[in-house]
Amino acid sequence: MTPFNVIQTVCSHDCPDSCAVLVTVDEAGKAVKVEGDPTHPVTRGFLCGKVAKYLDRVYSPDRVIYPMRRRTGVAKGQIPHGEEQSAFERMSWDEALDLIADKLQEVSARYGPESILPYSYAGTIAALGYGSMDRRFFHRLGASQLDRTICATAGGDAFLTVYGKKLGTDTEDFHRARLIIAWGANIHGNNVHLWPQIEEARRSGARLIVIDPYRTRTAKLADWHIPIRPGTDGALALGMMHVILRDGLEDAAYIEAHGHGFEALRKRAGEYDPERVAALTGMTPDDVVRLAREYATTVPAVIRMNYGVQRSQNGGTAARAIAMLPAIIGAWKHLGGGMQLSTSGAFSFDGQALERPDLMKESPLGRPARVVNMSQLGAALTTLEQPRVHALFVYNSNPAAIAPNQNAVLRGMARQDLFTVVHEQFFTDTVDYADVLLPATTFLEHLDIQGAYGHYYVQFSQQAIAPVGESRSNVWLFGQLAQRMGFKERCFLDTPEEMIEQALNTAQNPAFPAMRGITPEELKKHGRARLRLGDNFLPFSDGIFPTRSGKIEFYSESLAEQGLDPLPAFVAPVESRHTKTDGAFPLEFLPRKADTYMNSTFANLPWHQRMEKATSGALEMNLEDAAVRKIVNGDAVEVFNSRGILQLRAMVGASVPPGVVAGRLSWNKLSTGGSNVNALTAETLTDIGRGATFYSTLVEVRKVQAGAEEPAAVEVCS
Ligand code: SF4
Repeated sequence: MTPFNVIQTVCSHDCPDSCAVLVTVDEAGKAVKVEGDPTHPVTRGFLCGKVAKYLDRVYSPDRVIYPMRRRTGVAKGQIPHGEEQSAFERMSWDEALDLIADKLQEVSARYGPESILPYSYAGTIAALGYGSMDRRFFHRLGASQLDRTICATAGGDAFLTVYGKKLGTDTEDFHRARLIIAWGANIHGNNVHLWPQIEEARRSGARLIVIDPYRTRTAKLADWHIPIRPGTDGALALGMMHVILRDGLEDAAYIEAHGHGFEALRKRAGEYDPERVAALTGMTPDDVVRLAREYATTVPAVIRMNYGVQRSQNGGTAARAIAMLPAIIGAWKHLGGGMQLSTSGAFSFDGQALERPDLMKESPLGRPARVVNMSQLGAALTTLEQPRVHALFVYNSNPAAIAPNQNAVLRGMARQDLFTVVHEQFFTDTVDYADVLLPATTFLEHLDIQGAYGHYYVQFSQQAIAPVGESRSNVWLFGQLAQRMGFKERCFLDTPEEMIEQALNTAQNPAFPAMRGITPEELKKHGRARLRLGDNFLPFSDGIFPTRSGKIEFYSESLAEQGLDPLPAFVAPVESRHTKTDGAFPLEFLPRKADTYMNSTFANLPWHQRMEKATSGALEMNLEDAAVRKIVNGDAVEVFNSRGILQLRAMVGASVPPGVVAGRLSWNKLSTGGSNVNALTAETLTDIGRGATFYSTLVEVRKVQAGAEEPAAVEVCS
């Protein structure tokens, strides 16, 4: 054996870049180095700041390394930070699995299997870890199904209403663009492997425009930053259409060949003149015109829209309107032109084989179980009946920190009659509510296969090291539990290798030409395979749009049938400056993600905390809003609305426009007062896609007077 092995893995954190990660392992089996694969065309040999020091995380002394149960007498949610280890007592895996199986069977028999709720999202986005054996297990059990809406369904569903498939401009072609619009996209913070493409484009004369209410790192580096008001993106897209059509800058031939319902859209766009759009967005009419003309007359022009746009109540419609822009100017015809929201629609792993939805028919229900929206967990745990949720199984997620309407979520999770299992790597906020805690592997510690939503490579993620402590993968956990539950189906014995073969069933199916001939052997040998998209891939150049009309739908009959507007329009979110009625909460709140964390992941690591020090615990305010409230930089402030209250430190400046304030997501237990930004967010859903509406949140801010012992009381809705 050579003293060191270099193992090919893939970063499975929830990020479009899906980096190829080389892990150097010493002869004792310990990982000693992680680095980006220099041969990967998108990774290009570097990792982001979140993952560059990943071994600190893998070998952290704070890892959960064996199964544990809550000690008798320790109340849920009442564990002081730093004392988590002593709040739980060690148990063996056999004891833990038996206990969980017994409890799930008891709950199922007593209240029905739908009283069991899985809760997971993209703690890993690799195919097996994200959704495979776990889905089989909960399908077979007859548990409530989870509608996984918290991140991307509004934008994703909206894009599908227009094009029928989630394809996007190839990341590797962005360097060809001459105009790049980053719309709600903090590329420098959250999609950093696109950045070299943008730099290359700019060296060739391209301009970068950033549309974002917040002055992100990307905005600071742009040629033009447009700080529009939160939730007005759809109005701006309609205003751009207005100018483009008024000035005859559309690609009439492309629209004629591929569009459906365009004349209806033309009429609608006619209602959004630059003056009206300026009044809504906070721009000047001249800037609306300038933006539209620059966009329509620069070839190639590409929009990198990210999911921030769609986290408003009207976010689906906004994403839909923006998605229409490249079709209107014919940008899809040009290499480097078009739009990228996600490339995920090009990957066709065999979801039926991996997740086995057919097993729902084998469950005690013999039918599809009810569906619970993960963006409404608070309501699910506090008001949902018939049956009430009596068991919660959390993996790949930290709902106590990331779910909206946090006070309702925590009230629900604190219920004594709720049995909660948490499969985790660290002692997160959610762990504080666990009855049983199970140790989970990181991507270095298990085998998987992965697509991407920011490039077009299928990748094979080898297991680089043995699981740390007694940690185990999702596949292992749910396979073992299925045995304990007496599920006899062969699929519960499948190995990860077999499941990877199943995922690639589509490679033999002519219906999925992009997957053609991709084999586990090819992936193992090379670490990756580019989808069979051909050279110079132009999304939609085949003229195939799997929509109802078979065309690009500017007008959607499907939406009309759902009682929704078939055309894009600006409808103000209920919580916004446009609709506030009594003025009690006049400020629009942006509960932002930290650049160096991945949602709540990494927030507990010292190096990452140092990187976030400047804005950690801060409320960013515009000078105008601070002055009115007699707040200066560094003042202790309370941010509140009817759902909750936060204690933060004022950071006064120009990072947000007037009327907007911003805070950053961290763990509750690491935040002053024990709550994070989600204490203020609501469970209201988006207009399309039933997604979370984090960015439709109104608040008020007040200065904490020196010497005040207790925060002033705020009425919190129960
Ligand atoms: S978080 Fe994203 S950019 Fe960072 S290493 Fe993972 S995939 Fe790459």
